This record gives sequence, structure tokens and C-alpha cells, in this order.
Amino acid sequence: MKRPVVIIGNWKMHKTIGESLAFVKHLAPKVEKSSTVIGLAVPFTALHATAKLVKELKANIKVGAQNMNDNPSGAFTGEVSVSMLQEAGADFVILGHSERRHLFHESNAMINQKVTLALEAGLLPILCVGEKLEERDQKETVLKEQLYGSLEGLTTAQVKQLMLAYEPVWAIGTGVVAHPDDAEAAHRHLRELLAKKWGKEIAASMVIQYGGSVKPENSADLLAKEDVDGLLVGGASLSADSFSEIINQG
Ligand code: PEP
Repeated sequence: MKRPVVIIGNWKMHKTIGESLAFVKHLAPKVEKSSTVIGLAVPFTALHATAKLVKELKANIKVGAQNMNDNPSGAFTGEVSVSMLQEAGADFVILGHSERRHLFHESNAMINQKVTLALEAGLLPILCVGEKLEERDQKETVLKEQLYGSLEGLTTAQVKQLMLAYEPVWAIGTGVVAHPDDAEAAHRHLRELLAKKWGKEIAASMVIQYGGSVKPENSADLLAKEDVDGLLVGGASLSADSFSEIINQG
């Protein structure tokens, strides 16, 4: 099955509103001929202005958030809801990033609640899964727990509407990228898990991005793998030059 190539930049806690707008103005002309689905996961504060600029420029760039709360609204000081993201112009939301799972102790149950809320609201969730360094021997079990736990109770029709990112924790921000064959094996395993629970069609159509120390020097080899449909890029997405170089190999 032909799946789209999806390359998303995850800016984490980087870039002010002004920096985000300058970045988009720099990136847009560099990628205007690309057929890749391009996304920027920006900080909450930059979401509205960035989404507005992308529309004004008619740029082929989607804008999204890096997280949201697992409740639709309420007394949760400092948190942001799915409807707030949508009103601000988000096209997607990254959920279950390893920094959320490990630094902010998000459980699969909590991520499941977030994925469900995003889907109910019609916002595309990009669900991240990945094993820690000390879990590499039990990678398949960890991926199974995270995938099934985060997608618990979802119907086939719901699962069809999301995307996945395989991000081994040991590769995130470390400069140590997964070997393309290892990324391919993990993505295949995720497709097997999807097929077992939600059917072969979902497994074949699911977009699965790889993330972890992607750079212009290693992106083409990763994208050449049959089951690697795209990339989730942290550090190398902070410069429009390196990010566009990655996109233009997609
Ligand atoms: C990420 O933040 O999802 C990520 C993969 O970061 P980096 O590319 O910097 O490893």
C-alpha cells in the first residue's frame, strides 16, 4: 500500500512567536515543491500565530502541538485542552512523546485518554512509542504494552485516523540514530501488532514515522526503508536549512 511521506519537526521548548514566524518564512519557499506532508509541532504560545501565517502564505506546512491535557476542560491550572488547540489552528497533536512519558510520568492510560479526546474532537493524534536503552532486549514487549495501552478501547475506524511514531528513547537527542534495519524491524513489529488487534488493512495503511537523532546525513537511508513512512525530527528541525534538507530527501 502506498502511504504518504510525513516529516514533522518537534521544536520542544524552543522558539518564541517571533522566531517561529521567521522560521516559517524561511522554510516555506524551500519546501514549496515538496510532495511530503510537512508539519511543525510548535510551543503552545506560538501555535496561533504560526498557523495563521502558514494560511496566509498558503504554505504546504501543517502546524500542531506537542501535548494536551487528558480532560476536555476543568480546574487544571497551566494545562491546555483539545478545543483550545483546535481554536488556535492545530492540525495535529503529538501524544505520548518519551519526554512526556518519562519526565512527566505520563502513563499509557493517560495517553489513551488524550488520544481518545483528540480523535473525538477530530484532531489528528501522532502517538509516540519507544523503548529505553535498558529495555532494548524487551523492545517487542515494551512496544506492545505502549501501543495497546495507549490505544485501548479504540475502534478500527478510530485507529485508522491516527499516525504513529517509533522513537527509541536511547536515540532521542543523543546523536545515536537507530540503524535503518532496526527501525524497519520495529516498524514491522508495530504493523504486526496493529494487524492482530485491528486488522491487516489498518496495519498496511498506518503511517509510522521514525524519530531519534535524524539529521540530513542519515534521513535518506531511513526513508528508503519500506516500513518507514516518515520522520519525527527534534534538534535538526530547529534550523530551516537542515529541516528543509531532510524534507527534500523525502
Ligand atoms: C524528538 O524530539 O522527537 C526527537 C526525535 O528528537 P531528536 O531528533 O533531537 O533526537
